[in-house]
Amino acid sequence: MPHSPIWQPFTQMKTADPPLHVERAAGAILELKEGRQIIDAISSWWVTLHGHSHPVLAEALYHQAQTLEHVIFTGFSHEPAETLAHLLCEHTPAPLQRVFFSDNGSTAVEVALKMAYQYWQQVGQPQRSRLIGFAGGYHGDTLGAMTVGQSSPWWQPFQPLLPPLTVVPYPATYPDDPDVSAKEAAALAELQKTLDAAPNEYAALFIEPLVQGAAGMRMCRPEFLQAVSALAKAYGVLVVYDEVMTGFGRTGALFACEKAGTQPDVLCLSKGLSGGCLPLAVTLATEAIYQAFYDDDPARAFFHSHSYTGNPLACAVSVASLQLLLAQPHTYERLEALHWQCQQTYLADVPNLHQFRTCGTIAAMELVLDQQTSYFSALVPKLRRRFLELGVLLRPLGSTLYILPPYCITETQLAAVYGAIRQVAIEVAEGLFGQ
Ligand SMILES: *Cc1c(COP(=O)(O)O)cnc(C)c1O
Repeated sequence: MPHSPIWQPFTQMKTADPPLHVERAAGAILELKEGRQIIDAISSWWVTLHGHSHPVLAEALYHQAQTLEHVIFTGFSHEPAETLAHLLCEHTPAPLQRVFFSDNGSTAVEVALKMAYQYWQQVGQPQRSRLIGFAGGYHGDTLGAMTVGQSSPWWQPFQPLLPPLTVVPYPATYPDDPDVSAKEAAALAELQKTLDAAPNEYAALFIEPLVQGAAGMRMCRPEFLQAVSALAKAYGVLVVYDEVMTGFGRTGALFACEKAGTQPDVLCLSKGLSGGCLPLAVTLATEAIYQAFYDDDPARAFFHSHSYTGNPLACAVSVASLQLLLAQPHTYERLEALHWQCQQTYLADVPNLHQFRTCGTIAAMELVLDQQTSYFSALVPKLRRRFLELGVLLRPLGSTLYILPPYCITETQLAAVYGAIRQVAIEVAEGLFGQ
């Protein structure tokens, strides 16, 4: 293969292995040249729901491509977008009745941020301009999305470009965590203190409900999400749930907010929206937010758009994906029990794996080393490489190993993923990675 001009995302091009070329993919399996197969145990960065190259999604795409591939979405609309918007309103919390389209998770968050900011100006409280986020929160890589995620490892070079964020502690927990109540109480006290100090200055609070993804599949109890949301709302702060990762069955319910029995004012969705097939995102808002923009004055409209907003191909595939999901909730409801079975079979006696936890289809655990944590940055690429040798795509996040499979993964394939984790954890304990 000649030298490639491609500059890959999140990749140190000097030290990274050359990318693996995928020729085709079906179900949970990626197929490389010469038929080499790899189990996609992270749903290609958390997007694939029903499996790769799904015939129902392919059919929807083919049909739509022959009917209407794209059209300007200002002053025009179309059936796939209308159907998708109605479906989303029907299956998300009732107060969310307005759907704003964009193309990816970061822009869904940007839209939420701009919406909240402009909202307070238009209801006569422009001093409400400050933002609250959580330690470890990740909301995407554009500047606005980084603004509310100023505690993930990747935003530091850009800090001078970002407005300030008030960061509240996040009580990440796991089964039998003895400190969970104390951690939650401390986080809520900090939030209360923040709000009391400037009760009329906060515009919005951003949280990844139930699971912080990029920070290492850090899970919190539903009670915490309920308490945070109630407290923010008591101070009039808009509550934004970033369900870009947790949406569409990931947490074992259709949405994390449904699972936790709590409702946001604004909801961001992307990743699984199209079943992992095409880039699309939505930001849902309450009628009250919408009404603050609904006016005779053109200057009070919401000013945000992208060239491909509401793309019909992506909308048609998303309708097909959501209908599949609604018809087969068992596909995502079954995985949590399977994770625990596999944990018992493959990991229970592996001493260097701690804090095994699940939230629906997601399972995560901590790989414990004797060395200090900075060692992990050298170890992680070696682990990735070793998992690929064993035929499994996994990307550890620091010391966290996690599995986030497409819902179609078979029990045999899932067992193979756990077998690989078992083997690699034992190899780490034996010092095979040069500790
Ligand atoms: C991935 C992710 C984003 C960013 O989505 P992109 O489509 O990669 O821009 C935002 N929020 C959360 C919670 C995510 O997991």
